[in-house]
Amino acid sequence: MFLDTATIFIMLIGVSIILVLSMNMILLKRKTYPGFGWWTAGITVFGLSCVVLALRSILPVIFSVVLANFLFVLSGLLLLEGTRIFRGKAIRKVFIIVILVFYAIFQLYFTFIDNNIDIRITGISFLMAAIYGLTALELFFNIPPDFRFSHWITGSMFAAYSIFMLGRGIYTMLYPSAQHVAASNLLYTLTFTITMFLGIGWTIRFIILNAEKLEDELKRAQIQLQEQATTDSLTGIFNRRHFLELAEREFQRTLRYKDDLSLLMIDLDFFKKVNDHHGHAAGDKVLIGFTDICRKNLREIDIFGRLGGEEFAILLPQTSINEAKITAERLRSLVAQSDMDTGNQKLRMTISIGVASLKPEEDKLSAVLKRADDAVYEAKRNGRNQIAVAS
Ligand code: GH3
Ligand code: MG
Ligand code: MG
Repeated sequence: MFLDTATIFIMLIGVSIILVLSMNMILLKRKTYPGFGWWTAGITVFGLSCVVLALRSILPVIFSVVLANFLFVLSGLLLLEGTRIFRGKAIRKVFIIVILVFYAIFQLYFTFIDNNIDIRITGISFLMAAIYGLTALELFFNIPPDFRFSHWITGSMFAAYSIFMLGRGIYTMLYPSAQHVAASNLLYTLTFTITMFLGIGWTIRFIILNAEKLEDELKRAQIQLQEQATTDSLTGIFNRRHFLELAEREFQRTLRYKDDLSLLMIDLDFFKKVNDHHGHAAGDKVLIGFTDICRKNLREIDIFGRLGGEEFAILLPQTSINEAKITAERLRSLVAQSDMDTGNQKLRMTISIGVASLKPEEDKLSAVLKRADDAVYEAKRNGRNQIAVAS
């Protein structure tokens, strides 16, 4: 079964138009990443070279043979560089120009001075094998695990075409076309058909690779947003809203299982003075230093949040009032003994802690929070740098 040349060329033109339009529409209308523009240019030039080839019976030889093949090489180079840029590498302008100039001279020489179709076919086949082989290599190595599958599929398509081109070059070298007209026509038809399918394949792969990157960026943005919504940007611990959310969940669990539950409410002593004497930035560093000390001395299940300003809360699940007192006292003395690094100098800070535990008759978290808060003020009244247990 053979398709006649006219059918192949009509198909080639139709497919080229669809591919070129698809790539350009995405480039113009959608978010794309560096490299996609080069791919679009590559596919566009590829489509052009197909059209020029398809019109070979009505165009002079200089167009059909020289220009079409030149465009074919150019499209390969654009796809190679696009792939490199998509992978975050630099453009190699000199590399592209040198190959194009070299190829143009080769092509012109063996068309007009020594008209030799076999050398031309062998030359372009080996050159394209090299270009597509390099493109495949760009897609095979140093790919992050999440992107490997899609890159390897795309790389395999380039590798397969590279091998086909290599075979075509070797075959033409071994069996010059003049002695095997039928075979060389078959090879010609085969080349066009495979090239057309690969053009379709590449276009789809480029669009997928771009979409995959977009999806990844979206996923990262979502994670970042989630983090921003739940953590305090200065200290990295839970913000007020998320602390209360998690505390409420733990509170309900505690009620259900009739467990122990304690709460520490912490306020830094004379914190305003730090700001006044050392500046707001130093105050921020103290807040960070304080949360670091607490974080290192809490259990995995404890819920630590910044309620606002220099007020913090720690919910201690499955913790009795006596255990909570020990924890509070440990934190108080650790903070009192620590040098807080503010950049220029080290400061000593103290904290006041209110300790409250869930009472059997209580069924609202807010009641426990209120008693812990009252206890903080009692600690402040009693002279600060101490803990006070809620009544
Ligand atoms: P007390 O011992 O009674 O708690 O005294 P205090 O100075 O710590 O209490 P006060 O509530 O009067 O002051 C809290 C200060 O904390 C006031 C505010 O400027 C400061 N502050 C609140 N949030 C931040 C912050 O994010 N960074 C810094 N550097 N300061 C903050
Ligand atoms: Mg305060
Ligand atoms: Mg304070």
